[in-house]
Order: sequence, then structure tokens, then C-alpha cells
Amino acid sequence: MVHHEEDHLSPPSYPLIDRFGRIHTSLRISVTDRCNIRCTYCMPELEPAFFPKSELLTFEEITRLSSLLVDQCGITDIRITGGEPLVRKDLHRLIERLADIPKLKDLSLTTNGLLLKNHAHHLMKAGLKRINISLDTLSEDVFKNLTRRTGLKNTLEGIESAIQSGFQNIKLNALAIRGITEDEVCRLVEYASSNGLMIRFIEYMPLDSDRNWQRRDVLDGDELLAILSNHFGEVKEIPRADLSQPAEDFHVGPHRVGIIRSVTKPFCGRCNRLRITADGAVRNCLFSDKEVSLKTHIRNGATDSELLELFQECVVTKEKSHGISDEAFRQPERPMYAIGG
Ligand code: SAM
Ligand code: SF4
Repeated sequence: MVHHEEDHLSPPSYPLIDRFGRIHTSLRISVTDRCNIRCTYCMPELEPAFFPKSELLTFEEITRLSSLLVDQCGITDIRITGGEPLVRKDLHRLIERLADIPKLKDLSLTTNGLLLKNHAHHLMKAGLKRINISLDTLSEDVFKNLTRRTGLKNTLEGIESAIQSGFQNIKLNALAIRGITEDEVCRLVEYASSNGLMIRFIEYMPLDSDRNWQRRDVLDGDELLAILSNHFGEVKEIPRADLSQPAEDFHVGPHRVGIIRSVTKPFCGRCNRLRITADGAVRNCLFSDKEVSLKTHIRNGATDSELLELFQECVVTKEKSHGISDEAFRQPERPMYAIGG
């Protein structure tokens, strides 16, 4: 598909601007709440009640909503997530459809990488532009403790396969959890560098199903930087090229590392994201306690203008910030896997 330069210049008819003037250009779409592992910071220990298949938006429905948001509302970036997006059957077929939307600038995927070995090539062919892979540890024992499953080897093979398939700018995401990440940080940084990948550490957020999160479990950005400078020497912040990106980047000795201080230095003021859950609800924030269900409307024959109104309704109720550090903070009803990270 050839995208003409003028396409990118014409302003959207229905821009998604909230009460604080934030313009929404980035959309995260969850394609499933199911997953092949059970990370303690996300999934419950016991079997979760997943959405029945009939409750999931179909590829047609996802494509319709995405096209509408890109064509009319100025969404330029779409990230596919989950649950584990690669457990959704024929995901590359959805990627093909989305990659065909004129005016869409970026199409990316977040995955735990376990199934990537067999999918990377198809995803690349289907038009996926970028991949982020979650990797919290290089130790099979720690992986087992964190995910309640085995499979580190598969993730590492998945990463290798993404590289071999020609993906550029592959990013690794590592969660920063006290008592676990301290011993992993330096090895992960070295692993990323030696494979030419970018690694970002993300402060652990209160989105776990078991609701065990406590503030003291967050290994924060300053602590991460202290560990890195102790091991690698001088840490130097790299000025940000793109202010909408949540990561602060650093040169750490010979390496480059990103830190996302989602808890201690929230980037809410610059947030440009909107989310659609696997069961078809639109959310303006990970931590929102309100959401707008689109699925019923779509299945009852809503017109494009009616759907556009629902998106606007969602965007105007967006709060100024997630308020994790406020007294009144309450963890959202949906845990991470049911929202889409
Ligand atoms: N299953 C895929 C994966 O793990 O990459 C995609 C979905 S997962 C929910 C997306 C990202 O959310 C992962 O990088 C994961 O580490 C992160 N995540 C999950 N629970 C989190 C939490 N409580 N706080 C911060 N990040 C979290
Ligand atoms: Fe699955 Fe991703 Fe949640 Fe881990 S973080 S349980 S891989 S959805």
C-alpha cells in the first residue's frame, strides 16, 4: 500500500482531545485476555475466568474501529497486545488488515515471545513494523517463579527469530520488582546490548489480579540507576527526541538503557493513549474506573458517527493522572491481562 504524503498532513475530522488538551494519537488493542503463562504481577494464581470467544471483538470489528480511528480521529500508531496476542489464532491475518489502513504510521506488537519463533516471519510478511518483547530475567528459576510456568528458552528463541526475520528497533521490556530485578538488571542490559536490542525497565504498577501490589515492591528508577552505575560506571541521560514516549533513556557505560517510571514519575501529562480491550470496551487509562462498551453498539448496528461519539465520550472523561500515589487510589477492577498492557 502506497501512502501519500498529503494523507499525513490533512488534519483529522474528529481529533480525540481531552479536557486537559491531550491529543490522542496512539491506540492499544488487546486481542485476547488469554495467556500461555501466569505472571504473578498480572494474572491470578488460580485459573482466571477468561472471556468466552463470542465476547471477543472479531478481526472485522477490530479493523472497522481501527480504520475509523485512523481515518477520522488522528490515531497514527496501533499496538497489538493482550493477554498474549500470539495465542489469538491467525493473528497475522489481523495484522495484514491493519497494515493496509492508509495513514497508519506505526503498527507494533507486545508479546512475551514464547510463541514468536513460529510467528515472527509471518508477522513481518503481514506488515508488522515493530515488536516489543517482555523479558524480566535470564534465569529459568526466576522465570518459573515469576510466570508460574516454564518457557524462558522459548522466549529467547523467539527473540532470536524476531531478529532473524528482520525486525528493527526491537525493544525488551523488563518489569522492575524489588527482591527480583536487582540481580537481573545488569545481565539483562548486557544481553540486550550484545544482541543489538534496546532494553527498558518498567516500574511495577498496581494491576496484578491477586492485588498483592505494595509500593515497597516497586524497584524505582533511581534505584535501578544506582545499580547500573555501580556496575557499569557513569550514567548519562540522553535528551528525548519524542516527548510522547514514556521512557527516559540513559547511556550506562557502553550500554543504552530506558527506564519507565510509571509509578514514581508518571507521564500522564503527556499521555496520548487510548485502549480497546479484547471484549470491546474503550478505556482512556490503564487505571480508569469507567469504560465505554463498544461491542454491544457495534453488534446492534451502530453507525460510524455513533461509534465516533462513544470514543469522544470516553476521551472527555479522562482524568488528569492515574493517582497511584494518592490516598484515595483504588486499583481498577480489571487486572492488566484483561485490559491490555
Ligand atoms: N503478554 C504480553 C507480554 O507480556 O508482553 C502482552 C501483554 S502484557 C499485559 C504487556 C506488558 O505489561 C508486559 O511487558 C508486562 O510486563 C507488563 N505488565 C504486566 N503487568 C504489569 C504490572 N502490574 N505493572 C507494570 N507492567 C505490567
Ligand atoms: Fe501473560 Fe503478559 Fe500478563 Fe505475563 S504480563 S501473564 S505474559 S499477559
